[in-house]
Amino acid sequence: MIPLPPHTYQPNRPAYGPPPTMKPTAPPAGPPGTTGTPPPPKADGDVAGNGPQAPNSYNHVDNRMAGAAPPGRHLGHYPSLPPGYQNTSAPPPSSLHPALQAATQPYTQGPQPYQQQPGGPGPGPAQLSPSMAAMSLQSSTPEALRVVNLLQERNLLPPAPVPAPTPCLTQDLQKLNCSPEVFRCTLTSIPQTQSVLNKAKLPLGLLLHPFKDLSQLPVVTSSTIVRCRSCRTYINPFVSFLDQRRWKCNLCYRVNDVPEEFMYNPVSRSYGEPHKRPEVQNATIEFIAPSEYMLRPPQPAVYLFVLDVSHNAVETGYLSVFCQSLLDNISALPGDSRTKVGFITFDSTIHFYNLQEGLSQPQMLIVSDIEDIFLPTPDSLLVNLNECKELVQDLLKSLPNLFEKTMETQSALGSALQAAFKLLSPTGGRMSVFQTQLPNLGVGALQSREDPNQRASAKDVQHLSPATDFYKKLALDCSGQQVAVDLFLLSAQYCDLATLGCISRYSAGSVYYYPSYHHQHNPAQVERFQRDLKRYLTRKIGFEAVMRIRCTKGLSIHTFHGNFFVRSTDLLSLPNVNPDAGFAVQMSIEENLDDMQVVSFQAALLYTSSKGERRIRVHTMCLPVVSSLSDVFAGADVQAITGLLACMAVDRSVTSSLSDARDAMTNAAIDSLSSYRQSALTIQQPGLLAPACLRLFPLYILALLKQKAFRTGTSTRLDERVFAMYQLKYQPLAFAMLMIHPALYRLDDLSDEGALNISERTIPQPRVLQLSVEKLSREGAFLMDAGLVMYLWIGRNCHQNFLSQVLGVSSYAAVPEKLSLLPELDTAESQRTRAFVSWLRDQRPFFPSLHIIRDESQLKPHFLQNMIEDRTESALSYYEFLLHLQQQISK
Ligand SMILES: [Zn+2]
Repeated sequence: MIPLPPHTYQPNRPAYGPPPTMKPTAPPAGPPGTTGTPPPPKADGDVAGNGPQAPNSYNHVDNRMAGAAPPGRHLGHYPSLPPGYQNTSAPPPSSLHPALQAATQPYTQGPQPYQQQPGGPGPGPAQLSPSMAAMSLQSSTPEALRVVNLLQERNLLPPAPVPAPTPCLTQDLQKLNCSPEVFRCTLTSIPQTQSVLNKAKLPLGLLLHPFKDLSQLPVVTSSTIVRCRSCRTYINPFVSFLDQRRWKCNLCYRVNDVPEEFMYNPVSRSYGEPHKRPEVQNATIEFIAPSEYMLRPPQPAVYLFVLDVSHNAVETGYLSVFCQSLLDNISALPGDSRTKVGFITFDSTIHFYNLQEGLSQPQMLIVSDIEDIFLPTPDSLLVNLNECKELVQDLLKSLPNLFEKTMETQSALGSALQAAFKLLSPTGGRMSVFQTQLPNLGVGALQSREDPNQRASAKDVQHLSPATDFYKKLALDCSGQQVAVDLFLLSAQYCDLATLGCISRYSAGSVYYYPSYHHQHNPAQVERFQRDLKRYLTRKIGFEAVMRIRCTKGLSIHTFHGNFFVRSTDLLSLPNVNPDAGFAVQMSIEENLDDMQVVSFQAALLYTSSKGERRIRVHTMCLPVVSSLSDVFAGADVQAITGLLACMAVDRSVTSSLSDARDAMTNAAIDSLSSYRQSALTIQQPGLLAPACLRLFPLYILALLKQKAFRTGTSTRLDERVFAMYQLKYQPLAFAMLMIHPALYRLDDLSDEGALNISERTIPQPRVLQLSVEKLSREGAFLMDAGLVMYLWIGRNCHQNFLSQVLGVSSYAAVPEKLSLLPELDTAESQRTRAFVSWLRDQRPFFPSLHIIRDESQLKPHFLQNMIEDRTESALSYYEFLLHLQQQISK
């Protein structure tokens, strides 16, 4: 019997995508109060800081929690195969090289011929003319539009991770286009009008990873940075040259002069070929900015560490790990001879450390008046790292012992942050805060809002919005002074991350969370903390940054997602920018794009490097414009759509309610598939139909509904839920997708067939399996990669070979209860397994912990919760979800 769908339909049901309900909100009453301090650097050619304060997506939080909760469901643990739902046999594992497999995936458009338009380009190079861009899709149905009946086709996952779709551009244009790892659009074919977009019922937006570590980045030093005189767009591969002296802007269409300097090409060392300059050959490029891009001299790298030293903090043992990690990496901190560091510790009082050159040892200064915080010896608390390195090292060696016997349980975090803000205000810089409990003293003190008994209740989740605006206000003050705050939360108890996280969210910082951190009881967390710290301390950093996103006239950007403050309509203030931060923006079509065959998007990130250079990193992406709904569907990027919907759902959970957000996600799938059926399909047929490019959409939506951020009916700690929400908004798409839909691999039969070969290492490439217990076998061992965490599940009858050759144990019973390391055995099986796991880890900037679990392990429920296709006590199976969608669509 088919269970009833969990929700009934309301006429004014929530939806996502273009409908007017998602329009930007009005600007808030006033800017945050910041007073006399050095002006921020110039923002991308405009004077920064004087624009109107535009809202960002976190403003206007209301606490209205509405909506009826779905009834609790008790359906039993394991999925049953409903009648009529036959397993189709899986295609045989391909023996192709993975790169070739990817190339044959339906998402990738092969090279196609294009037609040159009459009245084409002038004397400039052919590939630079937008008039040649769009191709006709009418000749044959592309693979992306192949009709898939989701109720019949069971094996939808490609054998390797889903690649980004390739925009339908000429090969020449596509060759120049920005990498999808940096810049992605939810629709790789842009609808010509808002009304076509509305019909598609898919959200239009961009997903960016603008400061990503790149192995190749062209850097240009030039006294003239060529930009459009009208809209300030940087010259890029998608402008057109009318002749050697004039270029036409691809965003506003103004004709600009080519400056004299541009006639010389430093790469080929020849004159008269402006179209061959690196600026017009690279969609991603970095400029070293001349002095007009700064209002003050570039700031030095400044690092301030703010450390919880209360009894609770000392108990966790984090302080010695932190101090050792900083000692190990102190010479690798990005910076130059001007780099400064400082330290503040706190419990019920605030402790400063005088590290001035000439002192024989660090001097601790205690300020007990936390109500009116002041800086003792303000000039010697932030010191030059090179000159005072020995004192800094002394301090780091003695800090863990200094508080060893403390009985102080109170935490005046708010005052410590105010002190740190005062200390960093004159220069700007990075504040790294380590906190292990709920702050309970002085300004910003909080009370627990979590009722553990309510964690699994069917009622709506409360307290997703901040309890006080203290942390947000302070973050905005920090942003005004070019200070970003990164928060490391290490705690077993509720810490109100929804409130504390604001300090990082609005100051463009990052949040790290280590639940149940303990130096002895939780070695996996300790290892993750150590690895994360190493990355954090040594990764690239940009200071006093701003990012502006421009798009072709007619398109308009509204809501932004990520950690930042929106300074003016399209300018994000980023006191720090780091290579691991992702962003997303929503767009609408304000004017019809009738005469255009392509449109472009440009993100420009202006920042100060740790060596004090002002630099501008520019990414430009070009996409075709299409007029028919079918073509819009054909270009849908299902992962980008899912990532953007996740960001929108986080906002909706906070401003409205979790149930509202959940309904809106389900409706996004219903609306787009129903529109596809009604308007894009020419031949009607029974079933739940989707174009091939959207075949994973319902699965991803179901995965979001079961994700920690949005799930209901399962006990979920409030801080863990809020952290998952942060991650969805802040992680670059590739990593967010692993959190949403983990990858499952079988590891006990790894072979070298189809393996990658990287630097003499052979990396096996097992196929990605569906997330269902049906895919598990008691004889096997299966790895689930969920982004921040990996589980290696060992079946009860796991082959003896795997147990002995990979785990080094004699029997299943001998697998230890808490195992987080694969032993380094000198066997082919061990080498293959470790090569694969470390290859997965190497591809992300954070360190996922690995839990090796037996069938009766305490962690098994966590592993099973990620089996998205299966039914749980409170959530539908994938097949049930499809039936629910079909029922709604055929209404
Ligand atoms: Zn322009």
